[in-house]
Amino acid sequence: MSTQPSVRYEPVIGLEIHVQLKTRTKMFCGCELGFGEPPNTRTCPVCLGLPGALPVANAEAIHLGLMIGLALGCDLAPRSIFHRKNYFYPDLPKGYQISQYDQPLCSGGELGGVRITRVHLEDDAAKTIHAGSSGRIHGSSHSVVDFNRGGTPLAEIVTEPDVESAEQAGEFLRLLRTTLKALGVSDVDMSQGSLRCDANISIRPVGQTELGTKTELKNMNSFRFIEQGIRAEIARQEALLRAGETVEQETLHFDPQTGALTSMRSKEEAHDYRYFPEPDLTPITITPEMLERARAALPELPAARAERFEALGLHPDTAKLLAWRPELGDYFEEAVAAAGDGADVVAIANLLANELLQRLDAEADPADSKVTAPALAQLVGLVAAKAVTGAGAKQVLDVLVAQGGDPAAIVEAQGLGAVGGEDALVPVVQAALAANPDIAERLKGGDMKPMGVIIGFVMKETKGRADGKEVTKIVRSTLGL
Ligand code: ADP
Ligand code: ZN
Ligand code: MG
Repeated sequence: MSTQPSVRYEPVIGLEIHVQLKTRTKMFCGCELGFGEPPNTRTCPVCLGLPGALPVANAEAIHLGLMIGLALGCDLAPRSIFHRKNYFYPDLPKGYQISQYDQPLCSGGELGGVRITRVHLEDDAAKTIHAGSSGRIHGSSHSVVDFNRGGTPLAEIVTEPDVESAEQAGEFLRLLRTTLKALGVSDVDMSQGSLRCDANISIRPVGQTELGTKTELKNMNSFRFIEQGIRAEIARQEALLRAGETVEQETLHFDPQTGALTSMRSKEEAHDYRYFPEPDLTPITITPEMLERARAALPELPAARAERFEALGLHPDTAKLLAWRPELGDYFEEAVAAAGDGADVVAIANLLANELLQRLDAEADPADSKVTAPALAQLVGLVAAKAVTGAGAKQVLDVLVAQGGDPAAIVEAQGLGAVGGEDALVPVVQAALAANPDIAERLKGGDMKPMGVIIGFVMKETKGRADGKEVTKIVRSTLGL
């Protein structure tokens, strides 16, 4: 086959996300969830898979599943059932995972423009710890299993293959994480494994409707690594197709240290899970009361909050930034409330997003800084009242970040008040023109390009406390233009 360098390819990506639900007890038994307890202290015959032990579905996990379904706009099944997904692994003592198959709790839905295929409930496997050669038992390397995690409730969220780039995958996952966090259904901590993501990736020539062969990138533990892994896999597939080769369906591991993609398992080694309905559990039936309880528990979600902020006039990126990081949204709303009626909410949002956040650590909560929300609001009010210029406001903010305080008092104490009005500015403009006679001539002749030189002079003289537009006006009137 010849290579086709002119063909353009587009990525097609579908995501599968596992979320550990924040219930008190496990999915099918009364053991409390274990985090950091001594190994194998949170177990019972059910989650150890002992013969004859009977599971009972956790009502709170179903409630949290319904909340997720409602938040993602899914159809909620009035009746859904559990299936056994059979496979062997040391961390799965039952020999099967209890999951949902053809009748999941939630189907359909959408988040941030990505369609949701389904959301279903299942139990987590236990944790295998590979002790390697450093932890020898009887002189050999070994693995050990901690069953505390076994049986933790999981919601699996599956998307349609609607994602078109690594960046979009990252953006979707960030929105999903903040949404789940707002719902309070999970800790959503990737490094702790309470949020885990697999990415299914294929590429196809632009214009082709048929999907290409996909590979699956397993369990990356940060959004950044997921994006890097997806980018690397798209590049690998494209190189294969350009060389006239084919993509093999397989499961891959991405090593963020080296950037290497290694095969974990090929199509031939794929599991045959022999799904069948779980005979020990009754179907989940959703009553109107259960639905009502889930609905009543829904908070305002980040996507809706971003829309509300946009409707106030905020730039979409700013609205998203403030809404997706709830602590920023809360700080913004506190500042708006402090500013009172008629406040310039866009200016408050911009000063927060573009200036204050630049002066704090990346993930810092401004509420923990020395700049109170009312102080930020007051500073915006001083700019609106022309008591201080935009440039002056930035200097005030520097002081606020360093030592806190009252913006008006800082303007006063540091002499940062705006220099305005003809009395104050005409002499400075005259000095600027006198110091730059050639430029004064060009301006008089109608060439406005060097206006900046005059403004620069005035700004220097007033330490940035003049307003550029006002200076321009005074230059024009002084020159009789
Ligand atoms: P499997 O049977 O291999 O698990 P599914 O049909 O259940 O595959 O899909 C799993 C995930 O893979 C879903 O998120 C789906 O959107 C995505 N997906 C399916 N086919 C493709 C493809 N050709 N390219 C990219 N993603 C795909
Ligand atoms: Zn148990
Ligand atoms: Mg699947």
